[in-house]
Amino acid sequence: TLPKVVIIGRPNVGKSTLFNRLVGKRIALVDDTPGVTRDRREGEATLSDLRFTAVDTAGLEDAVAESLSGRMRMQTEAALGDAAAALLVIDSRAGLTPLDRHFADWLRTQHVPLILVANKAEGSAGDSGIYEAFELGFGEAVAISAEHGEGMGDLHEALAPYV
Ligand code: GDP
Ligand code: MG
Repeated sequence: TLPKVVIIGRPNVGKSTLFNRLVGKRIALVDDTPGVTRDRREGEATLSDLRFTAVDTAGLEDAVAESLSGRMRMQTEAALGDAAAALLVIDSRAGLTPLDRHFADWLRTQHVPLILVANKAEGSAGDSGIYEAFELGFGEAVAISAEHGEGMGDLHEALAPYV
């Protein structure tokens, strides 16, 4: 079986867009409405020579308002349980939100390699957000544009040690 890479983050950062790009099919539903993807989606992903199972954890978004307790914690833990790596996605245009910090704090307690991904970084609108993401304490973010397919080489470099 392929190693599993879990895509995590608050609603609307572009998790499903990244998932679709990696899996190459329109499996996950992309929408402007936060929380629109109801289920956890899994698909076989390729990134250059890397092959892995990508998991879009969007089903967790319903529970975001309940903080990282209860149902969300259980579902995320289940998704992370056998993951080779997790991608914590932030929106570099929006900058960090309290919910991003919440996710980061909680993920810090999980024993899974974590790669910070700053999405929506096409052009220069995301530059300050990429810098701000440093504050989360996961090192330099991998800047990508899931929508435009930019930064996939850097994402490959970040993932290669784990998959
Ligand atoms: P999710 O809620 O985290 O799964 O986010 P979605 O993948 O559904 O995307 C939310 C919104 O962000 C949609 O309107 C996407 O088109 C948009 N989006 C996703 N990736 C990018 C990107 O790289 N750049 C820009 N500008 N918008 C993006
Ligand atoms: Mg989604």
